Amino acid sequence: MSFYLYDSVQKEKREFIPLAEGKATIYVCGPTVYDDAHLGHARSALSFDILKRTLQDLGYNVTLAKNFTDIDDKIINKLATSGKTLHELTEFYINRYLEDMAALGVLRADIEPKATESIEAIEKMITELLESDCAYTIENGDIYFDTSKDSRYGSISHMVTDDAQNISRIEANSQKRNPKDFALWKACKEQDVCFNAKIGQGRPGWHIECSAMINKFFKGNDEYCIDIHCGGADLLFPHHENEAAQTRCALNKEIAKYWMHNGFVQIDGEKMSKSLGNSFFLKDALKVYDGELLRYYLISVHYRNDFNFNEVDLQNSKKRLDRLYRLKKRLYGGKVGRVNKAFKEALLQAMCDDLNSSKAMAIVDDMISSANEQLDKEPKNKALKQEILGNIDYLCQLLGIGCKDAIEWFQQGVSEEEKTKIESLIAKRAEAKKAKDFESADAIREELQNMGIAIMDMADGTKWEKL
Ligand SMILES: [Zn+2]
Repeated sequence: MSFYLYDSVQKEKREFIPLAEGKATIYVCGPTVYDDAHLGHARSALSFDILKRTLQDLGYNVTLAKNFTDIDDKIINKLATSGKTLHELTEFYINRYLEDMAALGVLRADIEPKATESIEAIEKMITELLESDCAYTIENGDIYFDTSKDSRYGSISHMVTDDAQNISRIEANSQKRNPKDFALWKACKEQDVCFNAKIGQGRPGWHIECSAMINKFFKGNDEYCIDIHCGGADLLFPHHENEAAQTRCALNKEIAKYWMHNGFVQIDGEKMSKSLGNSFFLKDALKVYDGELLRYYLISVHYRNDFNFNEVDLQNSKKRLDRLYRLKKRLYGGKVGRVNKAFKEALLQAMCDDLNSSKAMAIVDDMISSANEQLDKEPKNKALKQEILGNIDYLCQLLGIGCKDAIEWFQQGVSEEEKTKIESLIAKRAEAKKAKDFESADAIREELQNMGIAIMDMADGTKWEKL
């Protein structure tokens, strides 16, 4: 089966043909670690998590790199008030990011480079750019990239390079040669975090780190460094344009063969932003909603479309996911068989069409309906039961959905305190039943019912769920 992706630079769907047979190299622009991850970070991570899973399922040996920008103006601003060192502050947010993404079932990247650990590679690339006259140093020691030296500048984002807005900006910084020139290296200033380098004491600009890291970790071929470069749609310009220009000038090749960009996240129809107060952190959402539910909800919309986060759609996702777990619970404790061939092919076909996850979810809905119908007709059919569990297992592998324990799924929203009480009532009931005191046993069942808890006597003991 061939994989097709929408290339956001060529603006068309293209068949994926890797640089090296059987291998896929992916680079995703990761977060700047000065605060907790929000829904936009979650969407980007999930979009390219399902890309990685799909390519792996097709048999590719996938290497995915996602960087952490751990030196930047925003981080330095935060340092001033945090009382922490740069390393303490960024490690704190890196760990928080990884925790949140793990809760969403995002697979860890194979390579997680940090800007502060890539200074040598960054310096090397800047030196090459200075030597080839694609970069210049201004009076205060800052080093800029000369966009006029790249004849293909603008080819990634299709942006016009000179507009009125930028003309005014050039006056504010008259030492820049061209309006769109950008800083590769920022010379050390007061209250700054600086690194010692032959190009002068200072720190890297944002754009250079991705180009330098890609060059450091991926060999590529004569034409391209990697197969697919990914990121949020907001990164297309200037970030990706600048990454591509640097790489072209320093290495005389394109940074990536294919480009994929995920759409924006809106909340109740408004663009998510801190000033609107609707930019909520993922860790807050995870206090209220299960990570797999958020995952399901976020990938139920095609990655290129803008995503409008709202409670109605989220509850609708919960209903759809509950149906899947209801089916899984019907087969609780059963043996997992092989996935149904037609189901697997349909699901993979949808994902091979530019990661059409919303279509894949509809295929899952149909599978649930037909599985329930078949089970009603043939409740004792072992092979059928095993195959359905095989389908759910495959779904977990491909999309990270349906991976949890079906009993625990329906225990969500019950506090630890309540859980202890429920467990002790169930134990009491078992004792009563053992002593043939059925009256007490029934009374306990009723007490649990009044607490909103249903119990089921199963082969391996009594299970409970929230009604
Ligand atoms: Zn980047």
